[in-house]
Amino acid sequence: MENINRRKFIKTTALSGAAVATSSILNLESLASAKEETAAKPIAISSGNGAKALEKAMEMIKEGKDAIDAVIAGVNIVEDDPNDMSVGYGGLPNEEGVVELDAAVMHGPSYRAGSVAGIRNIKNPSKVARVVMERTDHVLLVGEGALKFARAHGFAEENLLTDQAREVWLKWKENLSKEDDWLPPHTIEDKEIGQIFEKYLRHYGTIHMSALDMNGNLSCVTTTSGLSFKIPGRIGDSPIIGAGLYCDNEVGSAGSTGRGEANLLNCSSVMIVEWMRQGKSPEEACLLACKRVNERCREKRLQDDQGKFKHGVSFYAINKKGEHGGANMRSGGSYLIHDGTAVKRIESAYLFK
Ligand code: ASP
Repeated sequence: MENINRRKFIKTTALSGAAVATSSILNLESLASAKEETAAKPIAISSGNGAKALEKAMEMIKEGKDAIDAVIAGVNIVEDDPNDMSVGYGGLPNEEGVVELDAAVMHGPSYRAGSVAGIRNIKNPSKVARVVMERTDHVLLVGEGALKFARAHGFAEENLLTDQAREVWLKWKENLSKEDDWLPPHTIEDKEIGQIFEKYLRHYGTIHMSALDMNGNLSCVTTTSGLSFKIPGRIGDSPIIGAGLYCDNEVGSAGSTGRGEANLLNCSSVMIVEWMRQGKSPEEACLLACKRVNERCREKRLQDDQGKFKHGVSFYAINKKGEHGGANMRSGGSYLIHDGTAVKRIESAYLFK
């Protein structure tokens, strides 16, 4: 809010300066039109699982709420949803069957951020991340420390592992290897049991949301249960400021989903914001991030037969003007926006077919 006042002040001063040379009536007219001109057109962007979250966020933005309130309230819906198995309650657990969540928030106008990583038993890690931002001198709390901090602030603890998620985990475990003692349901006739099938493969999933509010301020959030069946303690890109999300109130806001390790190595969100600062559109900046992930990958195990990065990484960005863009490593991806009228699904740009 401080920023928008400053912005308005600059524009208004420039206009009134010009008007002084003509007449005071003109001056008043100029001021009125300056106000209209600077009223930001709100927008919110999210990963494909954020339709309800965007509805909620835009409703709050239209009520005049700060973007940080809107994006957090939006993603809380997904964190609470047991059927979204990539975020919050009902998220897929680590390899030991325990749900560990990562989340971060960044507030444009105050240039502050907060995050928690590997937190257990708290279904809204994005809310805890906000409290880290507002009630500590730190940016990131992990594991046991993050949980104790959440407890101290009155967050309720609960078992986040739903039966649905536990069963997916169990299938993964039982099909992980033919050499261990865990077996999936089978008959005495079955020979090939304990083999990993496509449907039991580990997967990624997250929600990112960035928004521009009515005051022209930006904020963002990313929240996730991370890579399914991860090594306990594994932290992805989502709670890392600059990797899983970044926002600069003068420029734009960006975030990512997909293979966190690739993004951690490239700090893509801060790069996207910096490319937008240099004049790239949100889409161009997101594509540059895909390009950088691909070009910097030297490990053959992460490449397909043509030497292309084989994992999925997706980027989302909006700029201060309310323009949006997204890009994926491969074609077929999409992202969502709410432009104040409705939620719209937009095809993402891509690096490879
Ligand atoms: N980026 C997240 C992570 O690596 C997962 C995802 O977005 O799917 O933890």
